[in-house]
Amino acid sequence: MSRDPARAATQFFGGRVCLDFANTLDWRTSNEPQELIPDYAALLSWSERRGTLPPAAIRKLKAHSASSTAVAAMQKAHDMRRDIWAISDALRDGRSVDLRLVNQMLARAPRQPDLVRQERGYRHAFAGTDVTEPLWPVLWSLTALLASDDASRIGCCEAHGCGWFFVDESPNRTRRWCSSEVCGNRERARRAYAKRKGST
Ligand SMILES: [Zn+2]
Repeated sequence: MSRDPARAATQFFGGRVCLDFANTLDWRTSNEPQELIPDYAALLSWSERRGTLPPAAIRKLKAHSASSTAVAAMQKAHDMRRDIWAISDALRDGRSVDLRLVNQMLARAPRQPDLVRQERGYRHAFAGTDVTEPLWPVLWSLTALLASDDASRIGCCEAHGCGWFFVDESPNRTRRWCSSEVCGNRERARRAYAKRKGST
């Protein structure tokens, strides 16, 4: 991810909606994590950029950004994100996954709305009437990932402090970075510098 939060908020390296959502805490494993979705309006902007809700629904939901229900939905969003981190780490370590929160959310999830064709592909036709709508595409992405062979392909960027997750779709499972151009380049430069410094 980028050092610049505005830039990081537009970088989708996870390969799945749920992992890009997990990556909305920039520098997650560093001492100074950077929150990319601090409030409901930011969550809506993320949904718009990631293309998980139709624009019409986002426009309607914006009117509720300051409501107490939106604040509660934001709490759920952050809880779910923390859960995705725990699930991803468990899968990477070969531990069994605690499915309680996921299954609780599934029990409360609405039926999947019809799909509609939009300029940027197909979207669920959410009505824009319930502030929890941004959460469901993330949950469905997570359950689809968990129930697929890709669950064994979750990786985490090796760059110091990054903490971004991705699905490693390289043939030999050798992916090391959220982005080779961003973290990979920075980390290679950092290690080369440390080596030079160490040898003097
Ligand atoms: Zn990274």
